[in-house]
Amino acid sequence: MPRRKILEEPAPSGRPCDRPGCSAGGDYKAPKSRGDQPDYYWFCLDHVRDYNKSWNYFEGMSQADIEAYMKEAVTGHRPTWYMSGNGAVSPEKLQEALARFMAEGMHTHTKATPALPRKLRKALDELELDHPISQADIKKRYKALVKQYHPDVNRNDPAAEERFKRITQAYKLLQEEYILPTAAS
Ligand SMILES: [Zn+2]
Repeated sequence: MPRRKILEEPAPSGRPCDRPGCSAGGDYKAPKSRGDQPDYYWFCLDHVRDYNKSWNYFEGMSQADIEAYMKEAVTGHRPTWYMSGNGAVSPEKLQEALARFMAEGMHTHTKATPALPRKLRKALDELELDHPISQADIKKRYKALVKQYHPDVNRNDPAAEERFKRITQAYKLLQEEYILPTAAS
């Protein structure tokens, strides 16, 4: 991938940041893809920096590394959307997909991590967590969910009780078997 300057001089755009969930002003533009007339995202300073980092992060990687990373990142989905008809990766499509992907909130500061066994993945999903994550954060999340779904505060609510059980099972499994990849620390 060619080196590309993403951060540009801000001119108040009057637009909100394009990063979902961010309410800051989108005064920094960043290209969505390469090409003669690239379309742009508009981000706040924090998010344009994230975006820039993501872009640079991928820049040093081989295409195979990028694919591996993306397959890992699009957990549970076959990443066929950036393939061309014959299954080969199209650089343009990949670039666009990366841009879209980053704007939607990808984890930008972690190394590609090995695939996670399905049951651990499901356990993380149950706790509404993303891989990779520390045991301390898993515990924090578990405690919060327990407060929310504990039978004591959800009397006669079978759905909450069921969820409470699943949360507890998931937490136990993660405690026993989930190991944070060292690359993510
Ligand atoms: Zn933002």
